[in-house]
Amino acid sequence: WLGEKIKPSWLKGHVSGNSNVKEMYGMLDEFSLTTVCSGAHCPNIGECYASRTATFMVLGSQCTRRCRFCAVPKGVVQPVDQDEPQRVAQMVRKLGLNYVVITSVTRDDLVDGGAVHFSQTIQKIRELSPETLIEVLIPDLQGEESALDVIIAAQPEVINHNVETVSALYSHVRPQADYQRSLDVLQYVKKNAPQIVTKSGIMVGLGESPAQVSATLADLRSVGCDSLTVGQYLAPSPEHIPVAEYIVQEQFQYYQQIAKQLGFSHAACGPLVRSSYHAAEGFSSKIRL
Ligand code: SF4
Ligand code: SF4
Repeated sequence: WLGEKIKPSWLKGHVSGNSNVKEMYGMLDEFSLTTVCSGAHCPNIGECYASRTATFMVLGSQCTRRCRFCAVPKGVVQPVDQDEPQRVAQMVRKLGLNYVVITSVTRDDLVDGGAVHFSQTIQKIRELSPETLIEVLIPDLQGEESALDVIIAAQPEVINHNVETVSALYSHVRPQADYQRSLDVLQYVKKNAPQIVTKSGIMVGLGESPAQVSATLADLRSVGCDSLTVGQYLAPSPEHIPVAEYIVQEQFQYYQQIAKQLGFSHAACGPLVRSSYHAAEGFSSKIRL
């Protein structure tokens, strides 16, 4: 596939033969869990699994939305697995994680969007691993404040919600999402739980202009977003939106500079940066320690 052949060398990611990688796959089988790392074909999977970190994906592997950049399967959603929070907590304990990221597919079919399931997962991790810092990477929950309240009440250290791209590309890239609604989600969390770190991220290389990226970063700061990730979009297959541009390192450094000027407390901008890449770095010194 041409997309792979022309990919610049700096985007190939690290392939690791580390025995931890095999162990991670074994544990995911043992606990019947999935990760967004494999579901979304993340280029960092070798590195992250080798260091025994992963982003758990709860609420099934099938999404109710059809974002055109995303490799997560879209199909018939599964019933909510009531035992899943306990199994996630068991695996987190077995791995001895200091920091864990929990995410999900979007479940527009559920009344609460899956908020209670997120909350239960947080509670179970707290019971088994009270010292583990928890980040939830949530869908927009259709902007339902009652659903957001459920997640806020569970008190994760970080609530992350990605705007994914600039406003002008939403109808093309995320036809069932709404840019303003995503900003509203972040604003609601910060207003109602200022102690929770809010975080968001975008992919670049979809055809956006630098001015549009800067405007998006400013929008995120205007709703009090604390932490930012900016990474290169990679097309998961020929059926997905093609990469419009491979963004060079200097441009990422420029975005890093803009983020600093805007006052984000933490920003990670780089080709291989993903929402959960080295997620613990930026936060460990700010939370609890
Ligand atoms: Fe992928 Fe999330 Fe879009 Fe679903 S809502 S298709 S998981 S990006
Ligand atoms: Fe998984 Fe995030 Fe690492 Fe990618 S960057 S492999 S999604 S933990």
